[in-house]
Amino acid sequence: MTTNFDTRAAELDAADPLAAHRAKFFGTDEATQSSTPGMPLAYFDGNSLGRPMSASFDRIEAFLRHDWGTRLIRSWDEQWLDLPLELGNKIGAAALGAAPGQTFVGDSTSVLLYKMARAAIGARPGRTEIVLDTDNFPTDRYLLEGIADELNMTLRWIEVDTSSGVTPEQVAAVVNSNTALVLLSHVAYRSGFMADAPAITKITHDAGALIVWDLSHSVGSVVVELDKWNVDIAVGCSYKYLCGGPGAPAWAYVRKDLQTVIEQPIQGWWGTKNMFLMGPGYDPENDLRRFITGTTPVVGMQAMIDPVELIGEVSIEAVRAKSLLLTQFVIDYTDEVLAPLGVTVATPRDPAHRGGHVTLNHPHMRELNALLWKEDIIPDYRDPHGLRIGLSPLTTSFEEVFIGMERVKETLLSLG
Ligand SMILES: *Cc1c(COP(=O)(O)O)cnc(C)c1O
Repeated sequence: MTTNFDTRAAELDAADPLAAHRAKFFGTDEATQSSTPGMPLAYFDGNSLGRPMSASFDRIEAFLRHDWGTRLIRSWDEQWLDLPLELGNKIGAAALGAAPGQTFVGDSTSVLLYKMARAAIGARPGRTEIVLDTDNFPTDRYLLEGIADELNMTLRWIEVDTSSGVTPEQVAAVVNSNTALVLLSHVAYRSGFMADAPAITKITHDAGALIVWDLSHSVGSVVVELDKWNVDIAVGCSYKYLCGGPGAPAWAYVRKDLQTVIEQPIQGWWGTKNMFLMGPGYDPENDLRRFITGTTPVVGMQAMIDPVELIGEVSIEAVRAKSLLLTQFVIDYTDEVLAPLGVTVATPRDPAHRGGHVTLNHPHMRELNALLWKEDIIPDYRDPHGLRIGLSPLTTSFEEVFIGMERVKETLLSLG
């Protein structure tokens, strides 16, 4: 029996408790879609760059006119000095399972990963090895190569299948009393594989090492429990599922008890005990503030405020529940409709190991992706042969997924 995916999409939309929130994001309604040339008919890249919320238009205008334009330098005292910590607390509560005072918004993801990796290694003097995997996001691997050169350390690589991810057994096999740091992604950017973060964190701790989790593809999409999992440090993007806009500053989490024992490598005035004393030497603050280097990117934080509040309001559990239905829809459609055309699913089918996107493999995916973009159907392509279908739960409807997947099928057929 064949499934009528159009009907199934309509039923899933009708039963979706988050459906009404989609209209809060610019470009999701039919009127805007038809009156705005180039507006995607199906947007499958919310895992790379989330859509803006309509509320951000007003917020950014008020920020320009009032907070900056009128209050000018007084706004530092009135609100901006604490903004990186206040917004960090909101991200922590809404999406990270983190109690207040452990999350801040700061530099770019790459720069924060560097700072945090160096800080962790500094807390394990005498240990000479860094554990990482061959399929982690390029910036993570490149940063660690540089740090290993800088500190004369050894990289211990875990070999990972591109349609899977790092397992606890693999980590257990490489950590030992030489390991200073383990740095991994929780959800793999390529396959969408979700690692067992609590188990891997425990294995790392049992070896006496520290762990830094890259949560760029997790935050705002899957349930994360940093406090419960006893994670040391985590870093993640704000422009993916948090919809903060291109280049929005990233956030980092440092567990409370580590904040006074680890030192960050870029000592700036914002991290000192009393920055306005402007004293003669660096004297780091005894809390999260020590990880802030200099004047924080206030402009870049504006567009993530409303989406983070929305996730807090609806709950990350509800977001995750919809995410699993969206990815399952794509997997079922692929099995039934695209598999006969030679398409395979590279993402784990087990929900316990599946993040927020689905990667589909076929020898012609690069070409297919380019053709889809010409028709305003926007997934993305990742080697080898992977079409990534990103499904941002708050901004994606099942009907949109159906429309996009039908176009994948038609375009694939046209390639012959
Ligand atoms: C998107 C992403 C990054 C991006 O880092 P930037 O400094 O923002 O360019 C880093 N790590 C992972 C796992 C990502 O998915």
